[in-house]
Amino acid sequence: MELNRRGFLHLLGAGATCMCAGPALGESNDPTEDDGMAMLVDTTECIGCRKCEFACDQAQGLSGRSRESFEDTSVFDQPRRMVADAYTVVNRYPQPNTPDQPIYVKSQCMHCVKPACVSACLVGALTTAENGAVVYDAGKCMGCRYCMVACPFEVPAYEYSDPLTPRVRKCVFCFERVKNEAKIPACAEMCPPMCLTYGKRTELLALAHERIAKYPDKYVNNVYGEHEVGGTRWLYLAAKPFEELGFLTLGDKPIPQLTETLQHSIFKFGIPPLLLFGVLGAAITAFKDDSSHGAASAKDASSSKPKGVS
Ligand code: SF4
Ligand code: SF4
Ligand code: SF4
Repeated sequence: MELNRRGFLHLLGAGATCMCAGPALGESNDPTEDDGMAMLVDTTECIGCRKCEFACDQAQGLSGRSRESFEDTSVFDQPRRMVADAYTVVNRYPQPNTPDQPIYVKSQCMHCVKPACVSACLVGALTTAENGAVVYDAGKCMGCRYCMVACPFEVPAYEYSDPLTPRVRKCVFCFERVKNEAKIPACAEMCPPMCLTYGKRTELLALAHERIAKYPDKYVNNVYGEHEVGGTRWLYLAAKPFEELGFLTLGDKPIPQLTETLQHSIFKFGIPPLLLFGVLGAAITAFKDDSSHGAASAKDASSSKPKGVS
């Protein structure tokens, strides 16, 4: 009998009722929900200068490439995605009717309010910090890469080039810098047109809706990240529907509800982690496809999903 995606999810749901519902090792400590910190990205103001990429590289000690190397605009010819030594990338979306005014979109970890990566991590290497930032402890990581499968935004990258101590890499919201140096995240600090605004999530949502109300011709009436997968801490404003700008179309339901049920089975029923890895991957894929059902899936719409970085 062939099992389609919807059927597979139903099967998982049925199985879930048989599984225990105790707390997961990697469960979010669910800090202050919407009172945590966030970033509002106004894509209508972004000029594609890539200074945020350079600032991130410097602040996080990533590739160490020169400032000039980040001025190379030929990288916009191909969509890019985050990789181990690039926590953030800016992509360009050409506008056929106004070719001299393309739209630029900065991407990084979305810092979900209910992060699937935290929920999927069996050893607590990924956690939600007190201000809401999703941070990583390489010392605890066992390299299973469940987080990479669980993330609905396909963010975490892995240091495949390091055979001895590979780490999972992603934006950590400059957590140490914000906490220890009382600074704002480096990318926001360096952005010339100040299209990145750091602040409390509730206040940024109010600001975003205020801008939409004030300039209805400038923005689509939607704040990406307000509701997606239960809400994210990186919020976006745009002049065009988000699915036309490489954003994935995802439902409002937090993904941890699914991943936690699955990972509990490792302990409760002794299911081998590698088997669960496959099950988890299939479940997340099914979830994402299901969420996009009926709409032009941004994933498809964007053959545009970034593929590489230079
Ligand atoms: S975007 Fe992915 S990696 Fe970032 S917090 Fe959400 S689930 Fe985790
Ligand atoms: S918040 Fe910090 S780690 Fe994240 S993209 Fe900006 S500079 Fe990089
Ligand atoms: S620094 Fe600001 S304007 Fe420049 S590419 Fe990054 S987000 Fe856009």
